[in-house]
Amino acid sequence: MKLPPFEYACPATINEAVALLASHDGEAKPLAGGQSLVPMLAFRVASPSLLVDLRKLAELRQIKIADDGVTLGAMVRWRDILDDARLRKVHPLLVAAVEHVAHYQIRNRGTVGGSIAHADPAAEMPGIVVTCEAKIAVVGKAGARVIDAANFFQGPLMTALKPDEIITEIRLPAWPAKRRFGFQEFARRRGDFALAAAMLFYDEDGGKARNAHVGAIGIADRPLRLPAVEQVLNGNKIDEAVIAKAEAAASASVDPDDDIHAGGAYRKALIGVMVERALKSAAA
Ligand SMILES: Cc1cc2nc3c(=O)[nH]c(=O)nc-3n(C[C@H](O)[C@H](O)[C@H](O)COP(=O)(O)OP(=O)(O)OC[C@H]3O[C@@H](n4cnc5c(N)ncnc54)[C@H](O)[C@@H]3O)c2cc1C
Repeated sequence: MKLPPFEYACPATINEAVALLASHDGEAKPLAGGQSLVPMLAFRVASPSLLVDLRKLAELRQIKIADDGVTLGAMVRWRDILDDARLRKVHPLLVAAVEHVAHYQIRNRGTVGGSIAHADPAAEMPGIVVTCEAKIAVVGKAGARVIDAANFFQGPLMTALKPDEIITEIRLPAWPAKRRFGFQEFARRRGDFALAAAMLFYDEDGGKARNAHVGAIGIADRPLRLPAVEQVLNGNKIDEAVIAKAEAAASASVDPDDDIHAGGAYRKALIGVMVERALKSAAA
């Protein structure tokens, strides 16, 4: 289908972009790689009066690595993450997740900021920011603010962003070198959105897990942490018995709806299996 009519602007500064968004009474939208927004326009799910293209904002394309963590500019593309060899070392869970995002063509244009602003409950990056307790830096006409990932996602395609706000950065906390992690996803075809995926990490103290973080996507209206599973892991050696308990706790923690892709009961069982596999790969 052809796109509905809209005005187009391509500002050279973030301030200009914010001013343009603020000038259209909530009817303007930022455009990143267009990988979700353009299909939404074609299907008439969105009909903004103005698209504010962020592609000239070079400061949003940076990947910064420092002692306190990794900062991804909102316009960093999936391809930039996969091509940056440093990230495999300093944030292997992020890279493992991005390897599951979509297909080549989409990875060449799709961005991290666009993904979390779009807030698809089955998308990998929202799961990563929630699991890792990332901070999301945004700027709007009222100034800059930082939103905890835990408070960012409010439902399918709904976030805490105001209409005049642009995501500028995603800040992932530092990743200790010996941290154990796992990412497991099940999709009908490689590159499709997940039917369910589990992502997790933990540190070790005397052979026992501590600081466990377990996240899940595809099983609710937003990405979730699974605190009941984290409780099973913390203070324990990750062996077969603990993994079996964690699998059961994961399934018991969620209550997915049926939809056109899978039944709720199937997804409930699937997330247990994803947690089990992610833990086995972390422990190995
Ligand atoms: C066939 C197909 C398969 C896909 N499979 C997957 C998959 O398996 N996993 C996955 O995670 N994704 C998948 N995607 C989506 C893809 O990852 C996109 O990269 C992602 O949705 C964001 O696209 P984009 O960066 O081009 O943002 P756009 O499409 O340009 O924008 C998306 C939304 O975010 C808003 N936005 C963009 N940037 C900002 C910003 N900086 N601040 C505030 N708001 C902003 C826009 O206004 C819009 O509402 C798939 C897409 C397609 C077409």
